[in-house]
Amino acid sequence: MQPRKLFVTTALPYANGAFHIGHIMEYIQADIWVRFQRMQGHEVHFVGADDAHGAPIMLAAQKAGATPEGFVEGIARGRRRYLDGFHIEYDNWHSTHSPENTALSQDIFRRLKANNLVYSKPVEQFYDPVKGMYLADRYLKGECPSCGAKDQYGDACENCSSVYPATALKNPYSTLSGAKPVLRTSEHYFFRLSDPDCVAFLREWLQLPGRLQPQVLNKAWEWLDGEGGKALGDWDISRDPPYFGIRVPDIAEEKYLYVWLDAPIGYLASLKNYCAKKGIDFEALLQDPQLEQVHFIGKDIIYFHTLFWPAMLKFAGAPYKVPEHVYVHGFIGVSGEKMSKSRGTGIDPLRYLDLGMNPEWLRYYIAAKLNAAVEDIDFNPEDFVARVNSDLVGKYVNIASRCAGFLAKRFGGKLAAPHAANAIIGGIQGEAAAIGELYDSREFGKALRSVMHWADQANAFVDQAKPWDLAKKPGAEAALHQACSDAIQMFRLLTLYLKPVMPSLAKQVERFLGVPPLAWRDAARLLPAGHAIGQYRHLLRRVDDKQLDALFNIESVPQVTAPQRHAEKPQHAAQAHSKEPAVNEVTTISIDDFGKLDLRIAKVAKAEQVEGADKLLELTLELGGAQRTVFAGIKSAYDPATLVGKLVVVVANLAPRRMKFGVSEGMILAASGEGPGIFLVSPDTGAQPGMKVK
Ligand SMILES: [Zn+2]
Repeated sequence: MQPRKLFVTTALPYANGAFHIGHIMEYIQADIWVRFQRMQGHEVHFVGADDAHGAPIMLAAQKAGATPEGFVEGIARGRRRYLDGFHIEYDNWHSTHSPENTALSQDIFRRLKANNLVYSKPVEQFYDPVKGMYLADRYLKGECPSCGAKDQYGDACENCSSVYPATALKNPYSTLSGAKPVLRTSEHYFFRLSDPDCVAFLREWLQLPGRLQPQVLNKAWEWLDGEGGKALGDWDISRDPPYFGIRVPDIAEEKYLYVWLDAPIGYLASLKNYCAKKGIDFEALLQDPQLEQVHFIGKDIIYFHTLFWPAMLKFAGAPYKVPEHVYVHGFIGVSGEKMSKSRGTGIDPLRYLDLGMNPEWLRYYIAAKLNAAVEDIDFNPEDFVARVNSDLVGKYVNIASRCAGFLAKRFGGKLAAPHAANAIIGGIQGEAAAIGELYDSREFGKALRSVMHWADQANAFVDQAKPWDLAKKPGAEAALHQACSDAIQMFRLLTLYLKPVMPSLAKQVERFLGVPPLAWRDAARLLPAGHAIGQYRHLLRRVDDKQLDALFNIESVPQVTAPQRHAEKPQHAAQAHSKEPAVNEVTTISIDDFGKLDLRIAKVAKAEQVEGADKLLELTLELGGAQRTVFAGIKSAYDPATLVGKLVVVVANLAPRRMKFGVSEGMILAASGEGPGIFLVSPDTGAQPGMKVK
């Protein structure tokens, strides 16, 4: 098989807020697909980025008293925790507010213009004289021109469902200032999507079999052919200042590219940024005829990704290329309710992690629900508990936990030669191609059903062999050895098939089995006679109903049932108890690893007791301009009053972590040893807040 070369992206999240479960679902879907392709030996470049531009971000930053740059940086800092937390492994995470994106967006704009696909014309638009800006439809309200209903948005009426241009609203007002808007005219740039060449190209592009899912294709045809082929209008791609975005190039007047133009170009910006880090030739990679460009997106942005985006890329010309696939998924709801932030339904991903819930439970559950169609999926708490506890723990893990102990105790952990005639082992091996095909076509639910079918078979095999009886029966040593060894072979194969979904669990199993990282082709092989497996350790906990209660009961204070993960313990580096390794046992790291730490001098501006916390103090730190709140487990050693004015060292780029008492935005360094006492690390006289520690 010729190895594939894949450039894979997920939709760029808008940088005006934290990730919600819908984002996490998409990233999990793409991550599973990417991990599967890598297990096949294919070359994959998997990138993401924040979508950082546009009026909503500019306004959100104003509200937060920040610059737009500072605002989106703050959002970006929070991303790592979600991605690491759910084992989502991008090769690169970047931002559309970047030099790469500026250069690429302006380049694409210039090329489209040179191809006569960009033109300008005056546009009449409402302007807020108080706020001093043009108003997008969502910032306008007024009376519906059809039915007269009050407080309707600038594009459609919620009362009578009629659609109209904002200029048709009666008694309009700005939702930003309440002011009466005035009509003003300004020159806007348009992308000529209605150009016959453009339309002809899109027809051809859409038609390639396998490029789009049937539902997506139908949608795109509707847009292309709607209203006798007149539905496809030209696209307004510029905005007037004030705007947070990329300048329209080559003109004296200050105008910006519309955020929806530069957002998808962010895929390429992230790839370019990644290529520079890895020493890969970006343009050569894009031009490689073997390269497949694959976008995972939600069903709400089909229009942009099946019409504008391919057309932009096509007519910008080489080195740009059109996408090979756009894979669209539906939304995720909870217990039949559509996810809504405002109504408080949905799952807060950080809360999920804070409660100590295993991220791979969620990966498994989401994968089990996903298929290749554009269908919404539902998170049902009872179903979640059942699938994790009965499928993963009850069926899959059970195979190893029932047999590994006998092998360790009676046979030094060494396996017998695989039983040539074992139909179940052969059956599981024989599924490699079929399950692989299901993963490749994003039929994850079907792939996992097949895995669980074989887990049932494996358990039936163990039930029949009854190793616990054989262990007591004189003269049954060989039978016991054979049965347990065969069950371990089955367990290894099932682990291989689950690995794209549960990478961390698979890693534990690889360690336990004493095998190198499992690749897809390893399904053709079995562990040889005499191969020694390690000590079986508990692999996966069951879901506790109480955790799900806590997950959905937003009002309750999180009862951190799980092991201190994000609770008080790891607040500063040296607080762990006597379990920490002696100095000479510490594994070495490279200078690059060290370089990832952003250590800064900070001054304690405020130090306070935290009500209800045994170990924590709440510190307000100054880092040369910026202020931060850090919860530090130093209450036993320091009186808050003595800390004010003191200089400390803070890990400044630690992802913010939500604790029972608030969000901690960093960690301060302190020393501790076997005996009592915690000792803060302080710089020598002369150091200033904000200085870097290297
Ligand atoms: Zn109306």
